[in-house]
Amino acid sequence: MMLVFKTIPSLHKKIKSLKLKNKTIGFVPTMGALHEGHLSLIKKARQQNDIVILSIFVNPTQFAPHEDFEKYPRTLKEDKLLAEMCGVDLLFLPDTKIMYGSSPLTEVIVDPALTRTLCGKSRPTHFTGVATVVAKLLNIVTPDKMYLGQKDAQQAVVIKKMANDLNFDVKIITCPILREKDGLAMSSRNAYLNAKQRRESSLLYQSLKKARQKIKTGEKKSKKIIDFIRENILNHTHGKIDYIACVDADTLKEVKVLRGKVMVALAVKFGATRLIDNIIVNT
Ligand code: AMP
Repeated sequence: MMLVFKTIPSLHKKIKSLKLKNKTIGFVPTMGALHEGHLSLIKKARQQNDIVILSIFVNPTQFAPHEDFEKYPRTLKEDKLLAEMCGVDLLFLPDTKIMYGSSPLTEVIVDPALTRTLCGKSRPTHFTGVATVVAKLLNIVTPDKMYLGQKDAQQAVVIKKMANDLNFDVKIITCPILREKDGLAMSSRNAYLNAKQRRESSLLYQSLKKARQKIKTGEKKSKKIIDFIRENILNHTHGKIDYIACVDADTLKEVKVLRGKVMVALAVKFGATRLIDNIIVNT
């Protein structure tokens, strides 16, 4: 049976007793509104650990004031059922007061070269919120392994850097992107899309796939790839492009010439809904 914890001391106590029994712990941090993407991380954690801990916390500090914190989907009842079905042992459900108290917060600021590029250009405070909450969660849960999705590729790079720089003793595992049948990357935010936006949104991955083909058949210039994707999106959707970029998959540095392990990443807004996606191409 899945146990639910709402306070840090009660969870600590449980984790201490599990560690005394030499149980390995796999941890999946989420903001809830669980979908198959989240479940794939839970299933991976289930395969690799004695105990699986899931956290659901819609973290206010990673949303800017004008963003969707208030209306972010919250589906706790369904989430609990799905989590239990996938074999979660402990569900950590803190509220904002428990995570942040009432005093100003110590923040974790990761290398701006990683946090100010790509999504960080339009969301300059986002990754400080992410790094801070994940550092706190790692200290609370002290897992052996933590599972993140490649869907949020920049987040995974930023968190790995944070965990390495702050010497967290955790192995971080990045899991592949789960997609809808038409290719759209699964996301809790897809629920915001109306029918037309939902139809058009499949163009994002279709464009990335075509770009991969172009790269595989010899195109080496990033600009050509970026222009190709932009044309595709602008010609077939009403989406507003935030960015399209070709970057080194590990350093997130923009590349002019495609060489090695390259990530092609994009963010596009459909109405107020900002969607992100990426592919990795080994050139
Ligand atoms: P979120 O609840 O959006 O903060 O996501 C929690 C975790 O699930 C993050 O590590 C995400 O990268 C991961 N995730 C979200 N969507 C997907 C997806 N479509 N495929 C794989 N992982 C995902």
